[in-house]
Amino acid sequence: MLISTLVKLFYLVGAVAFVWGLRLLSSPDSARRGNILAGIGMGVAILGALIEPIIGASNNYLWILVGFIVGGLIGWIAAKKIQMTAMPQMVSVFNGLGGACATVLAAAELTKFYALEASMTTGQLGIAVFTLLIGAVSFTGSMLAFGKLDGMIKDKHVILPRHGLINLILLITVIMLLIWLTVQGHQAGFILAGVFLILSLIYGVSFVAPIGGADMPVVISLLNSFTGIGAAAAGLIYGNQIMLVGGILVGAAGTILTVLMCQAMNRSLLNVIIGGFGSANTAAGAATVGDQVAKVATFNDAAIQMFYANSVMFVPGYGLAVAQAQKTVKELDDLLEANGVDVKYAIHPVAGRMPGHMNVLLAEADVPYPKLLDLDDANAALKDTDTVVIVGANDVVNPAALDDPSSPIYGMPVLEVWKAKNIIVLKRGMSAGYAGIENPLFFHERNRMLFGDAKDSIQKLVQEVKNM
Ligand code: NDP
Repeated sequence: MLISTLVKLFYLVGAVAFVWGLRLLSSPDSARRGNILAGIGMGVAILGALIEPIIGASNNYLWILVGFIVGGLIGWIAAKKIQMTAMPQMVSVFNGLGGACATVLAAAELTKFYALEASMTTGQLGIAVFTLLIGAVSFTGSMLAFGKLDGMIKDKHVILPRHGLINLILLITVIMLLIWLTVQGHQAGFILAGVFLILSLIYGVSFVAPIGGADMPVVISLLNSFTGIGAAAAGLIYGNQIMLVGGILVGAAGTILTVLMCQAMNRSLLNVIIGGFGSANTAAGAATVGDQVAKVATFNDAAIQMFYANSVMFVPGYGLAVAQAQKTVKELDDLLEANGVDVKYAIHPVAGRMPGHMNVLLAEADVPYPKLLDLDDANAALKDTDTVVIVGANDVVNPAALDDPSSPIYGMPVLEVWKAKNIIVLKRGMSAGYAGIENPLFFHERNRMLFGDAKDSIQKLVQEVKNM
């Protein structure tokens, strides 16, 4: 009695910590605390699950401990070693493993049901079969997303002719099988359940295959919500409240993030899933630029332009993360501010390689949060900005998104940097960004290129400004 009250108390504390942790995650100032709080909540919840009185559980403590140590070590080392730019890959892998856990739990229950003729109500069976499906889709989908993000798998290698039709047929087949397995009970049999599992795993790969390029953040967030739903369904199978609460929170947060990202890209979710956006032929974009030549600035010119400006707006992108230039940018920002320049940062919701990527980096460099403008505020402020400095961003400042209907990113809201009086782009060369398309901005009459690694270039600008 005492133990079961204690378990409930642990679960309650865990659930409150999850909710409060999520709440703190909503601002970069408090996000670190939120993460720690949610982690502690998970620790308390695991403790609750360990002391929960389950018959025969004591025999398994050794196995649990081994799993705990091995899993914990892998997680710890991975989180320590991971580069910030590879964070989406890690999120994908961890998310996929969450899906795999849900599938394994459902598979264990279904094995008992079919092989040992255990009893289940139709509702319980339906939930177990659904968990098998959603976990499997999340697992293989996330693994493919990891391969794509890491550059190991190219979009064109996994897209089949008439892929949309194949996906539709697969989806209808797995839904029909889900209903059949639920309604038929023991009669459907172990083999059909196995076929269902294999088809679900294939569907996960096939579902993610046509999605690529700039749409990857949306699919990762969607898969995250699938894992949450899978975990919640697994919680229902076991009647475990904390699993249910945790799963619902992940599922809801992932779904909200997916919707917000679709809005940020001005696309419907259906369009993202069937669109094949970002995997388009990049040659079309290149042809429209013709043989125009971009103008190049010197570090001295650029420094003068920034130092004597009334306002400067930095636009950070993926290149800032690669170069780890955030602290150097802050140093330049401080020097400019000291000279009376109003410095702001324009943050595009999909800049970098993960949601909130730029916010995290700039918070790490102690850039005050009020200096960060979101897409709409930045676009409103850009027309009154003297100099915009683009640090390793490309797709998020591509005007083709607004004025070239043939561009694969047409319709995506971008930072309208060309409204500023002067534009300076810092990047190493003329390479395309994540979406693989040319950027006409580089040939804009008011734009000057400053070639080099973003951190080196900013360091040179810092030096030039100090010499003034
Ligand atoms: P992009 O990927 O469009 O462009 C980054 C640019 O940075 C490249 O053109 C590259 O050019 C330059 N660069 C790379 N390394 C350096 C360096 N060391 N120093 C200076 N420049 C460098 O980045 P954006 O941030 O503009 O856009 C993000 C893209 O990623 C969008 O298409 C988005 O949809 C996608 N995405 C976003 C995710 C998210 O959640 N935020 C997740 C997955 C994808 P060069 O090689 O010439 O230097």
